[in-house]
Amino acid sequence: MCRHLAYLGPAVPLASLLYDAPHSLEHQSYAPADMRAGGTVNVDGYGVGWFPGPVRYRRAGTLWSDANLRQLASVSSTAFLAAVRSATVGMPVADAACAPFTDGTWLFSHNGRVDGWPGSVASLAKTLDVTDLLTMDAPTDSALLWAVLRRRLETGKNPAEALVELVREMADAAPKSRLNFLLTNGKVLAGTTWTHALWVLERGQSVTLASEPLDDDPGWWEIPDRHVVTAVPSTVEVRPI
Ligand code: GLN
Repeated sequence: MCRHLAYLGPAVPLASLLYDAPHSLEHQSYAPADMRAGGTVNVDGYGVGWFPGPVRYRRAGTLWSDANLRQLASVSSTAFLAAVRSATVGMPVADAACAPFTDGTWLFSHNGRVDGWPGSVASLAKTLDVTDLLTMDAPTDSALLWAVLRRRLETGKNPAEALVELVREMADAAPKSRLNFLLTNGKVLAGTTWTHALWVLERGQSVTLASEPLDDDPGWWEIPDRHVVTAVPSTVEVRPI
């Protein structure tokens, strides 16, 4: 299972969460504290997208060995989403298979897997046209889910509603799927818990969502499983899916 995080608040360097925190995303790539479903490390890829933009950078491989990203991470941002990847067995290891996926103003990440891939996505895939399918980033479960979601966001659908709808449809088609999502447009963070953890920290005027707490701040709290969260600084709303 991958690890992901999203930040919204006063501008901070990307490095503060990617590298500097005691249990930074880099640390979570080689020493994650809460892996499930067989994975042990997150070494197949990584990515970060930030605002204004969004500007997105992603690579296959190990986060800790990328000296270019370490330089780039001195950029300060008011909103960003980052992930490290443990590729699901059978899925390609490639730059384009790494989160965040992006379109327009959105950044998206999926921690988990679609059970029964690819047959189980047949009904969801039918909502896509041939252009959507041929412009998918990669032949992976996460990229397919993003291809479906981005079309729905284009229609102006509320981000949390769009995530809930996607979880329900996918879980109906393949109940053993793991559907832990993060989504942001730089103004709001949205996320789901569907078999894996997501933690929240409100600090000052900022809010962070992360698969694992990045430090020992007692303010971190865990969103219950099968819930959706919508967060802006000073307002975090959580409800069951
Ligand atoms: N199934 C997705 C992939 O292969 C996400 C993997 C994960 O969460 N470990 O990219």
